[in-house]
Formats: sequence, C-alpha cells, structure tokens
Amino acid sequence: MPAVTVDNLLALPRLARLPGGGRVRPVAGVVTARVSLEGEGFQVRRPFPGPELAIADPFLLLDHIGAVEYAPGEAKGAPWHPHRGFETVTYMIDGALEHHDSTGGGGYIADGATQWMTAGAGILHDEVPPAWLVQKGGLFHGVQLWVNLPAALKWTPPRYQDIGAKAVTLLAAFDGGALVRLIAGELDGHRGPGVTHTPIAYAHATIYAGSRLELAWPRHFNALVYALAGRGRAGEERRPFGEGQLVAFGNGDGVVIEAEPVQDSRAPALEVLLLGGQPIREPVVFHGPFVMNTRQEIFQAIRDYHAGRMGQIPPTRFDFSRLHGDRGPAIDHETGPDEEKAGGA
Ligand code: MN
Repeated sequence: MPAVTVDNLLALPRLARLPGGGRVRPVAGVVTARVSLEGEGFQVRRPFPGPELAIADPFLLLDHIGAVEYAPGEAKGAPWHPHRGFETVTYMIDGALEHHDSTGGGGYIADGATQWMTAGAGILHDEVPPAWLVQKGGLFHGVQLWVNLPAALKWTPPRYQDIGAKAVTLLAAFDGGALVRLIAGELDGHRGPGVTHTPIAYAHATIYAGSRLELAWPRHFNALVYALAGRGRAGEERRPFGEGQLVAFGNGDGVVIEAEPVQDSRAPALEVLLLGGQPIREPVVFHGPFVMNTRQEIFQAIRDYHAGRMGQIPPTRFDFSRLHGDRGPAIDHETGPDEEKAGGA
C-alpha cells in the first residue's frame, strides 16, 4: 500500500498513552458496510449513511472503493455531476483518480494524497481513473468521505485543498506499534494539514499485528473507526471487527484499538480510518448529490443545477479519448440528480 510509510517509526513524534482515570469510549455498535454500485458501475462499500444517520454527524457518507485489481478496460469513474451543501474528501491509497470541474480546475489524486473539496454553494465535477489506469488496469484503493456543512456555510464558495502524501502529519503509537497519518484536524496536540470548516479529525492508521493504539479523543467529538483491511478489536471490551466494518464509539476521553496478533497475509496489519468531529445537529435532507437542511432547498438545488447555476462543463474538457481511453464518451450532459438514491460518488 503506497499510502505513506516510514522506515523508522520510533523516530516519529509519539502519541501519549491514555492517562489512568480517563474513560475509554465504549463500543456503541459495529456496522457492516453495504455494497452498492456507483458512477459508471464501480463497486463501493458504504458503512454510512445507514438507518442511524445521526451517529455519523458531522459526516454524511463514506465510500470505500477497493482494494481492487482492475483488468484492462475495467476501471470506471463518475461522470459529470453536481454537489451542493457539503464537502467531498477523497483519499487515494493505491492507484489514481483525476477530476475536472466547472470552474476549469482539475487535479490528480494518487498514492496517499487527499483532495478536500468544499462544494459549498455548488460545483459540477467528474471523477475518473486516468487513461493509463483504464488501459493497463491495476490496483485501486481509495475512500471518499462526505463532510456536512452547517446551514451558515452551505453557501460558501467552492474551494479545494490538495493534501499531498508527504504533507500528512506522521505520528507513532506510544510503543511504535502503529503509524498514524493525520490528514486533517488535531489529535493529542498534533495538527494535520487539512483545514476544516467545523472541528474534525481525520486520519489513517496502520496498526501492526498484535499492537494497540491508544488515542486521546476530544469529548465533544463523535468517534468512528472504519477497517480498510485486517482484523482487530475495539474498546476495553475488545469487540471484534474487521475489513468493511465501522465501529461507532460512545462517550469518553479516548479510543483504544488493537490489531489481532494473526492477520491475513494479504493484509498483514490492521488498516483503519479514524474519524471524529463535532456534531452539527441540524436537520439533514439528503438527496443524491445535494445535502441541505430543508426539502425546499433541495428543490432549489435541482432547479439551480438544471438552470446551469452550479456551473457549466468547460468545453475544453471534451477530450473523451484522454478521459476515457478507448471506451468512448460516457458523459451525459442531461443527467440530473438521481431521484431515488442517497449518495453517489
Ligand atoms: Mn462527486
């Protein structure tokens, strides 16, 4: 996994052990991700939203793509679509994703890099594997997290943060048994590079077989841990969980996660995303690529999208061969928000 790794964990700043007397957060629940098809038909595992959307607040959705070894011609993306009212955060562990947007911007996210896109008032974009990956095939492993914006920030202008793999803050567990890549926010007094609109912490941790990660966690944050690979145990009750499962924690001062001493050879360590944030606690109306506070605002978003008020697809982006290799165009300019489903790339 080319997400950032280091040769000498013990040279990194250490996360403090949890102090005695602090309350370790109990496990409130373990959720197995549902599998669905997105975009042009790529498979994602989605641990949330689920029936209990509120446990994720301020997060809205998590899509885990791969790890998958694409055959030539198999890699698929999400053609042009709008977003309004929240942020999409794309972290690529293996492989690459290109994007282009209605402001004329674009970028390339690969091998441990994160793109933090604030859709805010509205933007159109596409998210597609680069032509080389479509043609040759290859390993693809990434996640997209949707972060809600409070009412006061839903109309903020769109913005990007490109967080390179080398920019993440690297931290080690107290005994060097885990590597934490802090992408955004603050953990135990250490800051990640990502700037967030509301208080959030977002990190990827590799916990080596048989090791234990202890993390002080802000009391006013929710706490979620999602397993990208491997098997582990959560909390002092040592609740088992593994790849494709989300652990939601209850209240307390810190989070404890252990990697099982024996892991699969395919995934020799427990790989987890750590997610925490201050709940926004506002009504959420979630409709396809729009997340607002009221139904009226959703209707307005659909009207604004169809009227072109979220931007236009830049004409310079009609280079189908570059975007889609030999598969031909897959862009439908009339495609609107899916009326039925919540979510989407
Ligand atoms: Mn998108």
